Amino acid sequence: MGSVAPLENIFRSKLPDIEINNNIPLHDYCFERLAEFSDRPCIIDGSTGNVLTYADIDAAARRFAAGLRAVGIGRGDVFMILLRNSPEFVIAFLAASHLGAIATTANPFYTTGEIRKQAAASEARLIITESCYVEKIREFAGELGVTIVTVDDGPAEGGCRRFADLMAADGAVLSEVKINPDDVVALPYSSGTTGLPKGVMLTHRSLITSIAQQVDGANPNLYFNEEDVILCVLPLFHIYSLHSVLLCGLRVGAAILIMRRFEVVPLLELVQRFRVTIAPVVPPIVLELVKSPLMNGYDLSSIRMVMSGAAPMGKELEDKFMAQLPNARLGQGYGMTEAGPVLSMCLAFAKEPFEVKPGACGTVVRNAEMKIVDPDTGASLGRNQRGEICIRGAQIMKGYINDPEATNNTIDKEGWLHTGDIGYVDDDDEVFIVDRLKEIIKYKGFQVAPAELEALLITHPNIADAAVVQMKDEAAGEIPVAFVVRSNGSQITEDEIKQYISRQVVFYKRINKVFFTDAIPKAPSGKILRKDLRAKLAAQFP
Ligand code: AMP
Repeated sequence: MGSVAPLENIFRSKLPDIEINNNIPLHDYCFERLAEFSDRPCIIDGSTGNVLTYADIDAAARRFAAGLRAVGIGRGDVFMILLRNSPEFVIAFLAASHLGAIATTANPFYTTGEIRKQAAASEARLIITESCYVEKIREFAGELGVTIVTVDDGPAEGGCRRFADLMAADGAVLSEVKINPDDVVALPYSSGTTGLPKGVMLTHRSLITSIAQQVDGANPNLYFNEEDVILCVLPLFHIYSLHSVLLCGLRVGAAILIMRRFEVVPLLELVQRFRVTIAPVVPPIVLELVKSPLMNGYDLSSIRMVMSGAAPMGKELEDKFMAQLPNARLGQGYGMTEAGPVLSMCLAFAKEPFEVKPGACGTVVRNAEMKIVDPDTGASLGRNQRGEICIRGAQIMKGYINDPEATNNTIDKEGWLHTGDIGYVDDDDEVFIVDRLKEIIKYKGFQVAPAELEALLITHPNIADAAVVQMKDEAAGEIPVAFVVRSNGSQITEDEIKQYISRQVVFYKRINKVFFTDAIPKAPSGKILRKDLRAKLAAQFP
């Protein structure tokens, strides 16, 4: 007689499963209703007021895909999108889908070193960027054999290609491209539960599943529909904006209002001018808006839904913000790049709205399973018991690119993705996140991988050892701070260390404080005992 597997407590959505057609390429799925929407506004460029229709965007994506093909990008090839939010970002991403190619997205504010690492690790063959960032790429483009494409008419850059020239190509050649639903289409980078940033392989199938979980099925008003104008201020290089704003918006035929960067006054003006109905945000943006006396001066009555994710939103902040938006409801969601990305989402907008509980981040998405496990024993826990949140379904990543070990440490043999987040599911199937088991630090929703900063710190000859952990911060949520062991005889100062790191990383990864110490606490395996360091900080800065 074989042994009987212990019973597992599996949590599912409050809504029934739906039929998902995830056997087609992502662009076909997003533009399935093109005939219906062709003349409707698709992308509104907030900086120029230009409006591109669904037909314009579809045609541009095809032409740009053909142009990329003409310069040798084909199925399975990786190119990098290193852009602020712009129509070109959207066109380039859709072009990857048309080609069966892979778009790796990165923050254009990254330093040369950070861009180089991602370009090399992902084996990107081409980088699409703005002319102001070209110098950073030029330093390594020759060595890595990367072609640079610029979207704007900066000074004629020797050796760079122009986006507009590639657009001149004829989209008809794409009919030959064969795409498998399990081909990777997006490759955002995330450090996951531990270590350095890794390429997260999201396929046509996984992204379609995750979009469908949000906006398909018999609940057409679940989050948004073709009448909506969705604000796209969160950076499209992060999966939250790429998936939950852009791709979900395209699928339903909504108008997507793009802002290159977050600024209070332009944001309020655009909301008023274009009658924005959906405002996807992160808590630090909400904090800045709430603190601004200007919010009262604008008509924000068009907003019917505020979506918040990427980091926890406190009750007090939520109340202050919502008090200024007379017609809006708040929907918190919980995402993780590796999860495709949405794990749970509030159901305030379902046909029969469910109660929105303070602090909850909704219910698990449809066509998926969630379980909560004891992090020590792996045992599956019941309702109201805290443990590691795990998720399973066709929406999760295929794995980390070229890293089977990290993949196996994150997705177990039964297909469960382990999030590294601690939470519980209550009696009403609402998901609550209470803690984080994993290393990542979230500065305004941006990921900071301690391992990346530690690796940089220990390259300094005057530093013998180092550990990076988070500290609470009102504006950013969390900020990275370092514990440093000086090398023998070294007198290196806090400022010198901060400057050494600042030169090498984007602004949100900068070390905010340095604590000198004699030794970094470590387990016998060599693993840094971050919990001990966090406890030390909590005692010092209650
Ligand atoms: P990323 O892969 O950059 O989207 O980061 C994912 C992580 O952000 C999650 O694993 C959580 O730790 C955190 N996170 C995302 N959404 C929320 C939320 N609504 N509340 C608290 N933490 C969140």
